[in-house]
Amino acid sequence: MEAAHVLVFPVPVQGHINAMLPFAAALLDAGAHVTFLHSDHNLRRVGRAASVASSPRLRFLSIPDGLPDDSRRSVGDLGELDRSLREVGSVRYRALFASLLSAGSPNRARADDEHRFPPLTCVVADGLMPWAIDIAEELGVPALAFRTSSACSFSAFMSAPGLFVLGDLPFPAGGDLDEPVRGVPGMESFLRRRDLPSSFRRRGDTDDVDPSLHVIAKASAHCGKARALVLNTAASLERSALAHIAPRMRDLFSVGPLHAMSPALAPSCSLWREDDGCLAWLDGQADRSVVYVSLGSFTVISREQFQEFLSGIAATGYPFLWVLRPDMVGASQDGVLHEAAMAAAGDGKARIVAWAPQRDVLRHRAVGCFLTHAGWNSTLEAVVEGVPMVCWPFFADQHINSRFVGAVWRNGLDMKDVCERGVVERTVREAMESDEIRRAAQALAQLVKRDVAAGGSSATELERLVGFIRELSA
Ligand code: UDP
Repeated sequence: MEAAHVLVFPVPVQGHINAMLPFAAALLDAGAHVTFLHSDHNLRRVGRAASVASSPRLRFLSIPDGLPDDSRRSVGDLGELDRSLREVGSVRYRALFASLLSAGSPNRARADDEHRFPPLTCVVADGLMPWAIDIAEELGVPALAFRTSSACSFSAFMSAPGLFVLGDLPFPAGGDLDEPVRGVPGMESFLRRRDLPSSFRRRGDTDDVDPSLHVIAKASAHCGKARALVLNTAASLERSALAHIAPRMRDLFSVGPLHAMSPALAPSCSLWREDDGCLAWLDGQADRSVVYVSLGSFTVISREQFQEFLSGIAATGYPFLWVLRPDMVGASQDGVLHEAAMAAAGDGKARIVAWAPQRDVLRHRAVGCFLTHAGWNSTLEAVVEGVPMVCWPFFADQHINSRFVGAVWRNGLDMKDVCERGVVERTVREAMESDEIRRAAQALAQLVKRDVAAGGSSATELERLVGFIRELSA
């Protein structure tokens, strides 16, 4: 694989980087050269230490995303970041190929390094950026699509055009969100309207769905044109969705959860500074006594929602560790919220951080349950560690992921669309105390660990994927 040089290009936001970085590590482990493409903005944020690759065969390059520094760069609604990447980023991406295709380009971040990269042989681009796949192919480089969301949400987006034909979309005005959904294969017995990705809902009072549904459905269909689709999921989690996606792709590889499989050859690329102090705080807590609260890298909640969450969690009496990003609670002052949380919890019973080393936190013996927005990375990380989940989904694939947690895998509870202190208290208590949920979470972790172990379905698929890339690179 020495001659293979793969460009790995995620949508430049935390969740997509976190999913695709372990994939880059797996390629390195197989002997490939890897160029990991960030945005200029993110490369500045991860800082010099993280941008110097741990292997001479890995380097980080960047292109502008075209947005001013103070933009929120939210991908939830595929808004300005998507547009700007398409209009500005794509021009610089195309221009980058001239140097990537020439033999012997150096690893510029390692000034002392004589190592030279072979010409680019393959691109693995985020499937939400169809243009990145098309430009690569146009310039003669075979391209694969990588989607960082769940197979069930991908399958729902692929089914969207059919739902319009059936007349199931848009949902009837004022219609019941608890109505079952026909037309998403394999999910008819448990999927309700409210479980579809958030963009399937009506936009305000209009007669149409959220426009991002059309954009993502189109991008999903476009993955069928790429050489293959790579999904960060495992057969034991999403066998049925994978079986429905496969015939519509040129090839399909389900290789996850990648973070549980890949050796740590790539440095962490956290866009916020991780507060390691919370691990020492967890060391001082009893086994399975702590509620870990994190709503991912984008979610913004109102002060009222913050207050409902806080009151509900504090009422359980369990100590809690809460990730409260500085930009998370609309129009808030950090210090005030911080103090409110500490006061509600009582002495020493709470720890508030701006960003946690989440995978280490979930692995810690003191964590008893995870109150999460059910982003796909967070879901996989909780599943791998066998930690019971309480889901409060906000957007994108989180609504369908949380339905799988509550109704299919049963490793947690789904609080969807309700944010009341009484419900928070009841669900957190149940997730902390239910033997049934804990047993289901642990059994699921065992299944997934088998998938990623040597000979397991994801490990075997990863080997097949490495062989596929090797052939494309020959
Ligand atoms: N994360 C983290 N520290 C935090 C909160 C989140 O490292 O304090 C990581 C988390 O482990 C996951 C990612 O950020 O890998 C969030 O991705 P996810 O798909 O769960 O949600 P998104 O942020 O895309 O909504």
